[in-house]
This record gives sequence, structure tokens and C-alpha cells, in this order.
Amino acid sequence: MNIILLGPPGAGKGTQAARLVEARGMVQLSTGDMLREAQASGTEMGKIVAEVMAKGQLVTDEIVIGLIREKLAQGGSGFIFDGFPRTLAQADALAALMEETGQSLHAAIELQVNDEILVDRIVGRAEQARAAGQPVRADDNAESLKTRLMAYYKQTSPLIGYYHAKGLLRGVDGLADIDTVEAQIAAILD
Ligand code: AMP
Repeated sequence: MNIILLGPPGAGKGTQAARLVEARGMVQLSTGDMLREAQASGTEMGKIVAEVMAKGQLVTDEIVIGLIREKLAQGGSGFIFDGFPRTLAQADALAALMEETGQSLHAAIELQVNDEILVDRIVGRAEQARAAGQPVRADDNAESLKTRLMAYYKQTSPLIGYYHAKGLLRGVDGLADIDTVEAQIAAILD
């Protein structure tokens, strides 16, 4: 079973993906994590994307599709696509890659939230990291968040209609507490 987690930054995609990995042994494919790894290891690609990410803009379709293609080529299944696809071009590329590898998508799960909560969650995430002496994401600040939200509404939210048309869209209340959201997702998967 392969699923997509859809939703704006701070909706809880990463948190729920981690729960699914833990509970079901699924495999999280987060393009954000892959890009941050590339950045940390100082690869050419990492250098190119660092500035774009810090501003909160989307990196090119070509780069993220390439990252996902590499992961899918390694085989396996039970994927949670977290933060990918983010554009219609990426969604089409994913459909083609899935077909090539003989896989299918079970659902695109939309974590529904409102903007006010996102600002609180993202600022909270930065403060928690700071308090724990962990690195704070370069894009977890108010300025970049505005750009990230705009990127979500302009470029990613059309995917809601796209997956609805494919009969794959499932909505969950992302404002509920973490365990309740997890239970709602479990109900979709079981
Ligand atoms: P995330 O960890 O999913 O919030 O992603 C952090 C940042 O990485 C985003 O703001 C983008 O700059 C970049 N990014 C992650 N996934 C994608 C994607 N699928 N397409 C384009 N840019 C992405």
C-alpha cells in the first residue's frame, strides 16, 4: 500500500509519517528530508537548493522527481510520500513512476488545518528545537513561512482536485490531537 500525505507546512505530515513507519513498517519518502540531507552533505545539488529552501520556495520539479525516481528504483513498497508531490507536474511524474514500477497509490490523505494553527506550530517547532539544542530549520521563520504557504496554495493545493478526480482523495481533521489524526488515517488504511 502506498499513500501520499498532503497538506500545508506544519499540518503534521512528518509527525504522522513517523507514526506510520513505527506502527506499520511503512517507508517514509520525504523530499524535504532528502533535500536537507543533500544540503548537509554539501553535494552540488545541496548547494543549489539551499537558498531556494531557505526562502521557502519550491525547488525544481526535475530535482525532486529525480530523488523520488532513485528511491523507487531501489524497489520495495509501502511508501508514504511526505511533501511530494507538490506540483501537478510532480503528480503526473509520480503516476508514471508508479506505473513503471508496477505499483499503485491507495490514497492521497489531506491533513486539513487552518493557517493560524500553522504559524503557531511552526514557530513552536523552532522554539522546541532551540530549547533542545537542536538545529532550527532555516525555513522555520515567519518570513519564509509566508512564502511556503503561498507556494502551497498556488502550486500544491490544485493536487486536492487532481486526486479527488482520481477517486483517491481522503480528508482528515488535522486540527485534532496527534493520536486522533493517527486513528483517522488508520481507518482509511484498514
Ligand atoms: P518540507 O520538509 O516538506 O517542508 O520541505 C522543505 C522545503 O524543501 C520546501 O519548502 C521546498 O523548498 C523543498 N521541497 C521539499 N519537497 C519539495 C517538492 N516536492 N517540490 C519542491 N520543493 C520541495
